Amino acid sequence: DRSNSMGVNLADDDRLRTLAQQINAAVRDDWFAEPLVPGATPAGEWLQVTNPADRREVVGRWLPADSATVERAVVNAVAAQPKWDATPAASRAAILEHAANLLESRMAEFIAMCTKDAGKTIPDGVGEVREAVDFLRYYACQARKLFTVEALPSPTGETNTLQLHGRGAFVCISPWNFPLAIYIGQVAAALATGNSVIAKPAEQTNLVGYAATRLLHEAGVPEDVLQFLPGDGLTVGAALTKDPRIAGVAFTGSNETANAINRALASRDGAIGVLIAETGGQNALIADSSALPEQLVKDAMSSAFTSAGQRCSAARVLFVQEDIADKVVTMLAGAMAELKVGDPGLLSTDVGPVIDEDALKTLHAHAERMDREASPIATVAMGEDTAHGSFFAPRAYALRSLDQLEREVFGPVLHVIRWKAGELDKVIDAVNSTGYGLTLGVHSRIDETVEKIAARIKVGNCYVNRNQVGAVVGVQPFGGQGLSGTGPKAGGPHYLPRFTTEKTITINT
Ligand code: GLU
Repeated sequence: DRSNSMGVNLADDDRLRTLAQQINAAVRDDWFAEPLVPGATPAGEWLQVTNPADRREVVGRWLPADSATVERAVVNAVAAQPKWDATPAASRAAILEHAANLLESRMAEFIAMCTKDAGKTIPDGVGEVREAVDFLRYYACQARKLFTVEALPSPTGETNTLQLHGRGAFVCISPWNFPLAIYIGQVAAALATGNSVIAKPAEQTNLVGYAATRLLHEAGVPEDVLQFLPGDGLTVGAALTKDPRIAGVAFTGSNETANAINRALASRDGAIGVLIAETGGQNALIADSSALPEQLVKDAMSSAFTSAGQRCSAARVLFVQEDIADKVVTMLAGAMAELKVGDPGLLSTDVGPVIDEDALKTLHAHAERMDREASPIATVAMGEDTAHGSFFAPRAYALRSLDQLEREVFGPVLHVIRWKAGELDKVIDAVNSTGYGLTLGVHSRIDETVEKIAARIKVGNCYVNRNQVGAVVGVQPFGGQGLSGTGPKAGGPHYLPRFTTEKTITINT
């Protein structure tokens, strides 16, 4: 019995222990995912899904969509949208709230799937369900408020009103690192606002996306209003985004793919499609000499290594002021030695596998370069139960400067850079110069320092004296600027309007 090294008190909590048992009982080996497109008869070869924590274990299978199914989905989505748009926003919201209740009641099943399909630890799985439920309820609530017909001034004696409508057929392309929360978040926002949706999950996590889609259908979303289209980026993603019948795309993933989607939308003949993109980050954590080392290390650990570092919001670079740096680095190495890397289905596990062998290769290539060009601080030892999975040992390196990092490293690697008194502006400039702008952590007890950093830093989410992951829906609207995304922020008050188009009605009375 022990606390999770990242501060989650797991072993003492009876509810979590019971949940862990329910999760293990919910695991199956016959999960599947196939296109959900009314009227289509998808053909092709079923592909195996294996557990990232043990590649010998087959957990399900999936059928990629072929081009005929993609075409049918677009035709269906365009035909179904007007009726859904004409459905009162309150009725659409009630369906989403019903889905939230269903999801809560099936928490164990969805966490089991997140564990086996995406390698998520149990606390991460709980977070996924919680966030998905929050998105459903929050966007339902926001849509009710947004879709009230607004009377405008009538200085000319005419009656003017402003109405909102869905834009049309929307494509939602979600990432594997939040296979449930972000999948549901995008889809719920587009549905709440009267769009029909074609949802394409990341290829690595189709099982979760399929189950979430079936749940939304069960809650009352018509099957032609929400269609599920698993497949590779070229057959499905590229075909959809260059199609002028698609009104807009909500995308979370890499900056390169967001740019490719943007180009596809711009190159179409026809209506201009809207893009809502949430992409990567090169997130820093800046600590000055007034930071409390114990808290700093605890928050740096959870920011860098939760979800095996596979969060857009994760801390990648710790800038620590020289005066406390030796102490912090020693404590960091000590805390890392306590990390338990292994089976994400065990409550005692802190860090599960990374998503796939490609991710593993990229991380190993980075580590090899860092071993040559930087100074290793610590590498976590891994147990025998990691031998057959896509596991990468969490690492920390000391760097001379941020220039040594070429791009975002999407995994459990923390880089530490020391700075001297008087160099705070230089640090802020260096962070801003990456062009990314997602999250920033600050650890300081000096108000002027906190205020200065918060004012000058170009990020979407700035967290002071706490960790920098786990934005709460409706409380910490999430999303960045620059290379990190287009905005508006997910889980914030300005997200839904981007999915809508406005109509002014003027009546000469
Ligand atoms: N919303 C998540 C968080 O605050 C991050 C989302 C992402 O990694 O894409 O940690």
